[in-house]
Amino acid sequence: MPAILLDGHALAAEMLAAVRAEAAALRAAGRPAHLAALIAGHASSSEVYLRNQKKACAEAGIDFELLQLPDTATEADVIAETRRLGADPNVTGIILHQPFPPHVNERRVREALDPLKDVESMTPANFGRLVMGEFDIAPSTASAALEVARRARPDMKGLECVIVGHSEIVGKPLALLLLQSKRDSPTVTVCHVATRDLAFHTSRADLLFVAAGVPGLIRREMVKPGATVIDIGINRVKGADGKSRIVGDVDPAVAEVAGHLSPVPGGVGPITVAVLLRNTVQLARVTGGGRPGAGS
Ligand code: NAD
Repeated sequence: MPAILLDGHALAAEMLAAVRAEAAALRAAGRPAHLAALIAGHASSSEVYLRNQKKACAEAGIDFELLQLPDTATEADVIAETRRLGADPNVTGIILHQPFPPHVNERRVREALDPLKDVESMTPANFGRLVMGEFDIAPSTASAALEVARRARPDMKGLECVIVGHSEIVGKPLALLLLQSKRDSPTVTVCHVATRDLAFHTSRADLLFVAAGVPGLIRREMVKPGATVIDIGINRVKGADGKSRIVGDVDPAVAEVAGHLSPVPGGVGPITVAVLLRNTVQLARVTGGGRPGAGS
């Protein structure tokens, strides 16, 4: 039987309805949520994400502001702009779009970001809170992948879970999120580019998350029958017709063996944007943009 496809658009719509209600309440209270996106240089990889964010903010009733710095912006310029946004009482959330130009150290910029406005939860302070299990919001893609997986597997206790990819924005935070519960967590294995026998690990996973950025990396024979497979990859490839399209890291034939599969496009992607906006209203509720009565 073919896998049940996990529809990210439907789940995102549910989440966005709740975000919209929260954003309207904040606006009525005189402290609207306001997301500022900072981009330095021309990162074509973030264009789709940026466009989706802008559109989703408009639909959710969240103010959106784009700050585009030129390619020539120095690291000091980017840090100064990040600090300025942190001090701006109207800005309740900030997103730093990567990649920055090569001469800008992303880690140093991230350190300059106010953790209370860090909607992606990627500052060292917020990452530390994630490790310690003391967090209100979590990195959006990792949270989104977990939200989708929970639809298929609400109870993950003791499951064999394999994550392919150990980046700071996806694999590592996802592993930490999966290990939050002291008693009910799955057993988590994290694979990466140096993993010796990838198929050995993936083929025993009840729950398989893939975020490697390699089209078709996970093939049918690498998946346990009935497994839940969450494809996080977003890769632009050229088809036989010469047209470019978006594919994931999981070969479509995996649908013949998996129990549940999140498709690309239409799986984790739309939910990532919904989580980002949920994080934005959540932080806006706490910071209140620094206006009188904020945080009450
Ligand atoms: P990255 O390049 O930072 O990390 C890739 C990870 O995959 C590394 O841990 C690397 O060791 C591992 N890897 C690479 N090749 C491998 C192989 N052959 N076998 C095993 N492991 C391998 O990438 P990232 O930023 O984590 O993104 C990963 C994918 O997720 C990309 O396709 C990206 O576009 C996508 N992504 C999607 C969303 C979303 O909203 N759905 C958000 C962020 C990233």
